[in-house]
Amino acid sequence: MQKSEIIEQKFTNFAGKIIVIPYIISIQMEQNLLRIAIQSKGRLYDDTIGLLKEAGIKINRSERALLVRSNNYPLEVLYMRDDDIPKTVAEGMADVGIVGLNEVMEKDENIKIVQHLGLSKCRLSIAIPKHAEYTGPQWLDGKRIATSYPHILKKFLKEHMVKADIYEITGSVEITPRIDLADAIFDIVSSGSTLVTNNLLEVETVMESDAVVVANKKMSTDKRKTLDELLFRFQAAIDAQKKKYVMMNAPKANVEKILSIMPESMKSPTIIPLADNEWCSIHTVLEEKCFWQIIGDLKKAGAQGILVVPIEKMVS
Ligand code: ATP
Ligand code: MG
Repeated sequence: MQKSEIIEQKFTNFAGKIIVIPYIISIQMEQNLLRIAIQSKGRLYDDTIGLLKEAGIKINRSERALLVRSNNYPLEVLYMRDDDIPKTVAEGMADVGIVGLNEVMEKDENIKIVQHLGLSKCRLSIAIPKHAEYTGPQWLDGKRIATSYPHILKKFLKEHMVKADIYEITGSVEITPRIDLADAIFDIVSSGSTLVTNNLLEVETVMESDAVVVANKKMSTDKRKTLDELLFRFQAAIDAQKKKYVMMNAPKANVEKILSIMPESMKSPTIIPLADNEWCSIHTVLEEKCFWQIIGDLKKAGAQGILVVPIEKMVS
């Protein structure tokens, strides 16, 4: 859409008189400009910035700027605390956001999850003192549980018909049993090392979380197009991270054996002849985890000089 505006330009004529010439100019309104809310600092920040970079989006943030316009994509980045992202998106102050699924479920706002990014993976779990004898959710009956996620915990307790006292705290949750503030905790766990350090044992995993893209439920067609392109770029970056480009040399006589080792989905690799007539080079794309499973077999089948190269983008 175009918006018109009148501007005036002043000139001095040959007689020294000032004349004013009005101009009508039209301004192109950026109907497709999408505003994305992301964490300003913390555990999600690096993953989010890394993903935007891999998606080819340039953001030059000067220190402490809270709203920054990308100079090569119709995107405005709004920096904020992760707790505020679901509400900001629900109320339309931002069109989309990148936030942990844990926060989305806790805040329970009226927003749509449009993509799982598989980043910042963690889980929300109940943990109790190491030496207590856990007998199932009923163990929590009448106990005091410290958490920053009261809404999710309340739902879990209700599902298991457990009546417990929820002690809401915004940080240092894991310390509460040691100082007799709580009998158990409900908190984020990733490696579990924080629990071990605090003599706690994880007894229930209530939910798994990863970073997700959330969107306002009402979005114009123009913005939706910008979002679809963004999600497409994110997906290409995520897919590329999981895969590796693998090259190896092998005697031609062993090619069939090598191909039989490759997973079903990768059955048509590129085969390139080498200067030595008896040999060829095999190029293919493999899931990284699958590569480690079959590397021994590939070597046994005669593959040599195996090269594994990261893939920057993968568009299928
Ligand atoms: P803010 O100041 O923005 O409120 P915060 O202190 O609430 O930040 P962080 O500790 O930065 O939150 O964690 C942000 C999100 O990252 C969490 O909500 C969760 O989704 C994820 N996360 C937290 N801890 C881990 C972890 N150890 N490993 C992986 N992901 C994590
Ligand atoms: Mg937070």
